[in-house]
Amino acid sequence: MIKFLDLKLINKGFEAEFKKGFKDFLNSGHYILGEQVSSFENEFSSYCGTDYCVGVSNGLDAIRLILEAYKTLGKLSEGDEILVPANTYIASVLAISNAGLKPILVEPNPNVHNIDITKIEGALSTKTKAVLGVHLYGQLYDVEGLERICKEHNLLLIEDAAQAHGARFIDERMAGNLSDIAAFSFYPTKNLGALGDAGAITTNNKDLADTIFKLRNYGRVSTYKNDLKGYNCRLDELQASFLRKKLKVLDAYNSKRREIARNYIDNLDNTNVLSPNVRDMNQHVFYLFVIRSKHRNALQEYLLANGVETLIHYPIAVHKQRAYKEFENRKLPVAEQLQGEVLSLPLYPGLRKEDVSKIVTLINSF
Ligand SMILES: *Cc1c(COP(=O)(O)O)cnc(C)c1O
Repeated sequence: MIKFLDLKLINKGFEAEFKKGFKDFLNSGHYILGEQVSSFENEFSSYCGTDYCVGVSNGLDAIRLILEAYKTLGKLSEGDEILVPANTYIASVLAISNAGLKPILVEPNPNVHNIDITKIEGALSTKTKAVLGVHLYGQLYDVEGLERICKEHNLLLIEDAAQAHGARFIDERMAGNLSDIAAFSFYPTKNLGALGDAGAITTNNKDLADTIFKLRNYGRVSTYKNDLKGYNCRLDELQASFLRKKLKVLDAYNSKRREIARNYIDNLDNTNVLSPNVRDMNQHVFYLFVIRSKHRNALQEYLLANGVETLIHYPIAVHKQRAYKEFENRKLPVAEQLQGEVLSLPLYPGLRKEDVSKIVTLINSF
């Protein structure tokens, strides 16, 4: 069986370093917001090229804290509308709801799966205050297009970079530094994945960073002083130590992902299957390699019967989830069509060349 993703294999390569990290952590006697978290924050902000990084508990909390910080600073208030692509992972939308704001779902561009910037103007109302762009599957959204529209309409631009660690825009700006403020998840399956839950926020805005440093830790400014009604959304010290070790090889691992993607793209040759549209290899870090087919379900069963595990990202669009009953009458034909056609193929550092060849051969004879 070719697994969809082999996390055990990926993390095995770090075993000795992780064990040393655990020993140092144990002996430090400092288990919350210690040296590992602040070192990771410094290293990750320099990696992204931003002035600040705030380590937090997970990706959903990262987006939620960004929105709460904007509320604290008076830039957003309860009931404001936030545009978000309709075909994202549900966490992007939940974060908006959790912060007491209103998500407005916008159709994706069917070629690149990211938010369709030509649909933004039609979605605006007097209450629209921000766009939450998502670099879906690891490919940057239309960076210049979205920047321009947000400027034109005076909207805040927030990046959900949970699937795009290390993606670079043409002028070498990194994911996490393409907007006013960005959210990352280090969920174990992500390109930079911890061994548990973890997340971070990157920004060049000092007021936002200062506010989020407080919000993630009970709104605390010093031991017994609390300025804000904050949360407990801290990045775990041990996860930070693991992440520091994996950050060192993130670029190398992303290169391996691109190599596998290149191999798929160059060799897939079946008129029933569409390969992903890649704008520029540097703008894509292939968190997922997502093909499309009108015969998706049959293709998935055929691959499984031949020993290849695949997944669907995502089989139920957000507006079709019971959690979002209020959107059940929304018509989002592009998102719905993609939901029925997408299929994610195995792609991870360590996936063998012969496995990729086997998958290609199987698909080409489907
Ligand atoms: C993973 C993910 C999240 C949520 O991150 P968690 O760490 O699992 O909370 C949010 N948005 C996107 C696009 C994601 O892929």
